[in-house]
Amino acid sequence: MEIRNVAIIAHVDHGKTTLVDKLLQQSETFRANQAMQERSMDSNDIERERGITILAKATSIIYGDYRINIMDTPGHADFGGEVERIMKLVDGVLLLVDAKDGVMPQTKFVLRKALESNLKPIVVINKIDRPFADPKKTINQVFDLFIDLGATEEQLEFPVIYASGLLGVSSFTEDVSNAKNMKPLLDTIVNHVPKPNVTVDGPLQFQPALVDYNEFVGRMGIGKVFRGTMKVNSFVSVVRADGKIQQFRIQKLFRYSGLTKIEVDEAYAGDIVAIAGLSDIQVGDTVCEVGKEEALPLLHIDEPTVQML
Ligand code: GDP
Repeated sequence: MEIRNVAIIAHVDHGKTTLVDKLLQQSETFRANQAMQERSMDSNDIERERGITILAKATSIIYGDYRINIMDTPGHADFGGEVERIMKLVDGVLLLVDAKDGVMPQTKFVLRKALESNLKPIVVINKIDRPFADPKKTINQVFDLFIDLGATEEQLEFPVIYASGLLGVSSFTEDVSNAKNMKPLLDTIVNHVPKPNVTVDGPLQFQPALVDYNEFVGRMGIGKVFRGTMKVNSFVSVVRADGKIQQFRIQKLFRYSGLTKIEVDEAYAGDIVAIAGLSDIQVGDTVCEVGKEEALPLLHIDEPTVQML
């Protein structure tokens, strides 16, 4: 199975949750996950209260031979560091823009982060079903924003998909009257987003980009396997931010499946997983094979990036 890691970025209310729900419903995952909660991407109570998506989470869908991991991204400037870390995990972004409201402040904020991370966005002109939707004007605004933010020529050649998350349709043209499903968008993701830039063979390297907490397993680190294979129950080393090395056992290993996490025995380079077993796991730790400790550079800007011991 091939992996595609993509982040979804948008101004609040431009339809991320609805669109991801539709992608899920139309993918095989829907059948496999009866327990899936409705709209659980923002099921967190605090998020509901504030009306913004605070916590970045992953959703995973199976589409043909591909597993597409979709990272939700907070649109708010308070979460800038988190957005940057997510941009380092993924190889592409879906930029959603409401076809009626057009470009908004958070559109600019998150797009800047994506462009700075050298990602080539796929532009989704969403809510195309809205009365007075103006896709042409919206595309022009998006193009101007790319220019403003100093996009490269390659980034400016963004593919455009017209969609209504609400109706569950997408299309390569702004006339969606014949559009049936999300296939055009899913095809664009698998064809346009590069495969993860990782090393399949070699000693394990994994770095949490986010931490999460669950009362049953405690603190978890969510991130990408950059190199090698990770196995549940194995003893591993962790290189901390200060360079200290500790060992621990990977007690649980989760992969995303739909909106839930499922326990797995192994994870391979490129996949986004959550691990439990180190009670104070931190963003920027590097989990390695014992005896092959080699920190990943992410948070080690002023220090030697490689430590061989
Ligand atoms: P998020 O904040 O980006 O996750 O946005 P939501 O998915 O929660 O959507 C915000 C609002 O827009 C909700 O009331 C949705 O029902 C509505 N909405 C989402 N997608 C569409 C769409 O394609 N068309 C229309 N007309 N409304 C939509």
